[in-house]
Amino acid sequence: MFKNNILCNRKMYSFLFQQIKKIIPRISATELIALRSGNTSVDRMIFKGNVNLNNYKNLNLSKKFDEKKVNELLNKYGNEIVYPSKKTNEIFSFLGSNKFFSFIVPEKYGGIESSVSEFSSILTKITTKNPELGVSVMVPNSLGPGELLSHYGTKEQKEKYLPKLANGVYIPCFGLTGPNNGSDATGTIDVGNVVKKDGKLMIHVTINKRYITLAPVANLIGIAFNLNDPNCLMETGKEGVTLALIESNHSGLKQETRHNPLDNNFPNGTLKGELYIDIEDIIGGQKNAGHGWKMLMECLAAGRGICLPGSALASSKVACYGVFQYAKHRKQFKMPLLEMEGVREKLLNMFYNTWCIQSSVHLTNNILDSGNKPAVLSAVMKQQSTDRAREVLNDAMDIHAGGAICLGESNFLSKFYKSAPVGITVEGSNTLTRNLIIFGQGINKSHPHISDILESVLSNNIDNFKTSFNSMIQHVIACYVKSFRLVSIKNLQMQLPYEILTTKKDNFKNVCIELEKQTQEFAHVANVVALKGGALKREQYLSATMADIFSNLYLAHSVSWYERENNISETWRNYVIQRLLNENYNSFRLIKKNLPFSMRPLIAHIRTRTTDITFKQQNEMINTLKNNSKIMKAIEEDIYKDGILEELEQINYLSEVSDEYKHCYNKIINVGEYPIEKKKLDFDVHY
Ligand SMILES: Cc1cc2nc3c(=O)[nH]c(=O)nc-3n(C[C@H](O)[C@H](O)[C@H](O)COP(=O)(O)OP(=O)(O)OC[C@H]3O[C@@H](n4cnc5c(N)ncnc54)[C@H](O)[C@@H]3O)c2cc1C
Repeated sequence: MFKNNILCNRKMYSFLFQQIKKIIPRISATELIALRSGNTSVDRMIFKGNVNLNNYKNLNLSKKFDEKKVNELLNKYGNEIVYPSKKTNEIFSFLGSNKFFSFIVPEKYGGIESSVSEFSSILTKITTKNPELGVSVMVPNSLGPGELLSHYGTKEQKEKYLPKLANGVYIPCFGLTGPNNGSDATGTIDVGNVVKKDGKLMIHVTINKRYITLAPVANLIGIAFNLNDPNCLMETGKEGVTLALIESNHSGLKQETRHNPLDNNFPNGTLKGELYIDIEDIIGGQKNAGHGWKMLMECLAAGRGICLPGSALASSKVACYGVFQYAKHRKQFKMPLLEMEGVREKLLNMFYNTWCIQSSVHLTNNILDSGNKPAVLSAVMKQQSTDRAREVLNDAMDIHAGGAICLGESNFLSKFYKSAPVGITVEGSNTLTRNLIIFGQGINKSHPHISDILESVLSNNIDNFKTSFNSMIQHVIACYVKSFRLVSIKNLQMQLPYEILTTKKDNFKNVCIELEKQTQEFAHVANVVALKGGALKREQYLSATMADIFSNLYLAHSVSWYERENNISETWRNYVIQRLLNENYNSFRLIKKNLPFSMRPLIAHIRTRTTDITFKQQNEMINTLKNNSKIMKAIEEDIYKDGILEELEQINYLSEVSDEYKHCYNKIINVGEYPIEKKKLDFDVHY
């Protein structure tokens, strides 16, 4: 009888195993590597339906970089065009010799090896003044030779290159993208073959790379290609995507053409040529042949969450700060713009999105500084921060209006407006990231049980499958039941023991309960949507809508965490969280309408009614922004203020009837005026 039971049990699991095998998506080798890279943190909590951020406290890590150097850099080169310019060499030499390229290089090789939080704050500050300088500092400190060598380089490679990367003798770049491999980064990538030349093992490769940042000025170049070994000459390593290092004087290398990325004046260009590369110049040596994609994905798991979000934060901060001050003083119809509800609506949008970016940048930096490499969260950060920063700029442009359109010294937005699409496109263009990566990778990696089921199926391990499947069933039932239950304050206090819960502010309690409840509902809906299996790759409307809910939940928990750590304004926090939850209610509504009829009963009870924010509350929020100086202080942090931003600050201290005020006001509303070139005009008129 007992034996029969076991047999029956085994048959059942074997049947289930086969069924699951049918619905799991087809996963390519490159996708599998991406899935296995990095780890999980708050993303897993969200998929579990229960977020507890008590372990993430401000780390108070010591600063290693002298802030005076940042000010000196911006003082000297803040207004300069970085490239192409007569000063390009001077700027790069200043950056290199002052160690701006060494934040991720280990101290033992002469690098700064700063915390993520410190580097992010420095990058933000540089970008607030000059986004082109920001890009120039960002690239050597993100995915490229420095990071790859630090993690995977041989001892000899580290000793040869890292000290010279740390002191700026080497300027690095990294070439992966080509005309035929963009989003599908390794799809139709350049191909290299292992050959024997003069008795030595060499790689013979013809490269054709484009869009490569710093390529026109780089002298240490990382390149990615697909390596073949048709004559089986390699002793270790394998065929596949491989990363190698070459120097700019490498025979055959052509660094001859540059791009003009929307007049953003940072170096960006092509790398071409037919090359022979010593096999030992593979990063990590011959044994790392074929492991390139894994190396890239492991580094990207963390890196994607730092630089682009830091830059997005920079533009959003300047936009909020500048436009708020401008709207306070600029008058039309005998009243300041700030008093007009149409302007207020846009300002609130700007501050709302900026607060989401700011809070999540701080939480993500904290998570990274705690030693995690949350791959899915880094994708969320990249997409959300750059997309929301573009929203901030669009609203800012509308308010600053003519002043934002005409180039000139008083236009503090134009440099960010033209650079916003760059962040959105690079390191995985946002459309792909939102539609395919965030929820697609999230459900397979961040979900508490699906990743184990996936691994057990891939390794054909029915015992592991049984354990994971049972856990999954328990989880699914628990989430389903919880999605019906109301969250009690008692439960909430257990999960979110914020000091604030003891106060009598019902408003906050409601938002907190709503956030908790929505997180539980997401966990349940995710389990239902998971039944779609591999179809999710095609059904990108669905995947992207789930990604939006998941991302917003991460932002909302970040906002809650940021307030807990900084104690700035509960009212403001409530407002921001409420808006995020409202966006999610709309997304849930879409999911309910679009899931197949057979699945709809499972999520019929999920709430989709928004808690509308009244016009009166909107006006109250503007008053909060006006009266709570802590909010503006947090926005101002890391902004480098000079020129027009300084004027916008100064005007607040002047009496409106004074001459100084009028002088300052005129500077603020001034727009660039340029002499008309007479000769050109004659020609134009003639034409
Ligand atoms: C200024 C700049 C700097 C750069 N720096 C570097 C660098 O230093 N090194 C380097 O190697 N590369 C660099 N890149 C390349 C960058 O990573 C690519 O541009 C990016 O990966 C997108 O490739 P693509 O432009 O060819 O767009 P495509 O791949 O042609 O994509 C076009 C559109 O389709 C979307 N899309 C594609 N596939 C899917 C899918 N399966 N599902 C949904 N949507 C999809 C994309 O999101 C995008 O919106 C840089 C690019 C720029 C513009």
